[in-house]
Amino acid sequence: MSKKIIIAIDGFSSCGKSTLAKDLAKKLGYRYIDTGAMYRAVTYYFEENDVNIKEHEAVEKALKDISIDFDYDENTGKQITILNGYSVEKEIRSPEISNKVSPVAAIKEVRSFLVAQQQKMGDNKGIVMDGRDIGTVVFPQAELKLFMTADEDIRIERRYDELKANGENIDLEDVRENIKRRDYIDTHREESPLKQADDAIVLNNSNLTPQEQLLLVYEMVQKKVKE
Ligand code: C5P
Repeated sequence: MSKKIIIAIDGFSSCGKSTLAKDLAKKLGYRYIDTGAMYRAVTYYFEENDVNIKEHEAVEKALKDISIDFDYDENTGKQITILNGYSVEKEIRSPEISNKVSPVAAIKEVRSFLVAQQQKMGDNKGIVMDGRDIGTVVFPQAELKLFMTADEDIRIERRYDELKANGENIDLEDVRENIKRRDYIDTHREESPLKQADDAIVLNNSNLTPQEQLLLVYEMVQKKVKE
């Protein structure tokens, strides 16, 4: 059996990270972790429990009551996010949570709480993790790091189509606003801002189909496992 590696995938909102990470993990028989879902689950908990994110003590206290797990749909390979024993997969994808998640993800205590869990998940390698700080903070030692980009209009359209497919009644301009705002907060925050790791490979998938990008990255992995 070939050696198992850690694959870190970072990039802006809605540039296809999760699609690639999920497909790649399935093809390799690796575990797939969407860390954005973890930040979304914390945001959902804070909303449901009226946690004031400006009060550090309230945030720290609330974090003690949060447990996040994942289930997987065997057919699709899709990750299902479980918060304190209940699936919140649909709730965390709502426009409301998308609007609130980036300020929550900028909180130091929230990041250290989730990063510690993410690092533990990599103990046995064989993992594909996507997010904003995976190659820079969570797994700086990852054997393969990708930094994904796509043209802004394409990202907005993809996100819009995804939300429509999920039955959300949403305006294209609201999606544009949300993506731009999240990208801004994610790249400008003090704690672990989104940035390309020095040793990351940039992948612009504006003109690639999911299948094309999967094959491209699969070949990169094959090279790495032989090294
Ligand atoms: O990946 P997704 O768009 O679901 O992530 C939601 C938000 O969670 C991002 O906009 C970002 O603010 C935050 N995030 C983060 N670090 C990660 C993953 C997500 O700050 N590793």
